[in-house]
Amino acid sequence: MNLSRTKLLAKLNGLHKDRRRLLRRLKKEDELAIGTVSVVNRKCGSPNCHCVESGGHPQTLFLFNDQDQGRRRCKLVRRADESWMLKAGDRYRKFRKDMKQLRAIDLEEKQILMALAERRAIHYK
Ligand SMILES: [Zn+2]
Repeated sequence: MNLSRTKLLAKLNGLHKDRRRLLRRLKKEDELAIGTVSVVNRKCGSPNCHCVESGGHPQTLFLFNDQDQGRRRCKLVRRADESWMLKAGDRYRKFRKDMKQLRAIDLEEKQILMALAERRAIHYK
């Protein structure tokens, strides 16, 4: 990193602002569906249903990791809960994205701090 100290410090300040914005979102209290909520087509299994011919019925699924069994599990979402769960799934996707961004900020911050340290280094002969 071959930037001036002033530029490095300005970048550091920018990162702090980004971090504050991310933390505000990450600290929210609204519910998260920790896993994946998705709509898939499933056949209901009834031999007389039209879905035998067509692709199936749209069905909302929640995929998550079972804390106790340590396995990937799948739950059908009840019709009445669909919009609630889909929203909570979206929020979790955003949460993950924000966490990823936070890690990128951490990394850049460390690189800048190391570049600043390098400028302070005694090159003793
Ligand atoms: Zn059916």
